[in-house]
Amino acid sequence: MNLSKFPRRRYTAGITPIEKLERLSETLGGPDVYIKRDDLLGLAAGGNKTRKLEFLMADALAKGADTIITCGAVQSNHCRLTLAASVKENLKCHLVLEQRVPGSYDRRASGNNFLYNLMDAENVRVVDGGSNMMGEMTSLADELKAQGRKPYIIPGGGSNEIGALGYVSCAKELMWQLHDMGLDIDYIVCTSGSAGTHAGLVTGLMGENAGIPVIGISISRKAEPQRELVYNLCRKTSDLLGLKIPPSIDDVIVFDEYVGPGYSRPTEGMVSAVRLLATTEAVLLDPVYTGKTMDGLMDLVRKNYFAEARNILFLHTGGSPALYAYMNDFV
Ligand SMILES: *Cc1c(COP(=O)(O)O)cnc(C)c1O
Repeated sequence: MNLSKFPRRRYTAGITPIEKLERLSETLGGPDVYIKRDDLLGLAAGGNKTRKLEFLMADALAKGADTIITCGAVQSNHCRLTLAASVKENLKCHLVLEQRVPGSYDRRASGNNFLYNLMDAENVRVVDGGSNMMGEMTSLADELKAQGRKPYIIPGGGSNEIGALGYVSCAKELMWQLHDMGLDIDYIVCTSGSAGTHAGLVTGLMGENAGIPVIGISISRKAEPQRELVYNLCRKTSDLLGLKIPPSIDDVIVFDEYVGPGYSRPTEGMVSAVRLLATTEAVLLDPVYTGKTMDGLMDLVRKNYFAEARNILFLHTGGSPALYAYMNDFV
């Protein structure tokens, strides 16, 4: 794979560490659990969207954009990081927030919400859950164009084939790093949401001929529609890269048992996973994504899913600022 032919901005110095979670591994009594610290990526408070934005913002700049439009849930890490990247690039940023849980938007809320204000988004528009988000962003873009502005739309989660290149790049980084550490990983576990992370990793690992299966833990959809979403993005990303052997649908593994009552709604498993990581490793997970994903990883260890495995790697995709908006679930 030749990633150098795609324009890229850099928002992180160097690479993110891989650490062994000694105390957690001992507590679980299964394979050794390692963590890839993508919560330490650059831009305000880090997280997986930073990798996608390196390629998306470069594309926006190449196209002469002066304003970035994106969308997300009311406590969106993606919106926070897109705003952060826009600030760095001196572009204006408009956010369209979907109120998936009715009444959940509060302008003065903590967490990411507070950071939208602090980093001064030019405009925050709140729409009802179930709205056509691309439609909302397109009409906002039309309004801005009518004022002579040059808007660039980044889809939810930054999950198109350009954003997914961020996790193709992560797969390359990972394989080099594992080789450097002399660490042979049997499985990678990551969150599967808007799919850019999961699809980028699967595609990038295929391009590296790595042979490491990726377990995606869904945080909103049922397994089948999520697999389809991930697979479609794998195909688009493989096409963009010109991969000779693209991933197949069998390479897309999704578990949907850890969603609970729905996207962003707390579960007991999430709360105990967040607590366990905080108290054994001082690693801060988040309530919406990585808490549920770690709940899944722990449950799969208990069920002996990783029976033959010696080492598994958890991808920490960030999100801890959202914890401060969920304090009531941790009393
Ligand atoms: C967006 C997000 C994810 C999910 O990544 P996708 O690429 O949307 O699937 C996982 N963890 C955190 C903290 C996120 O903000």
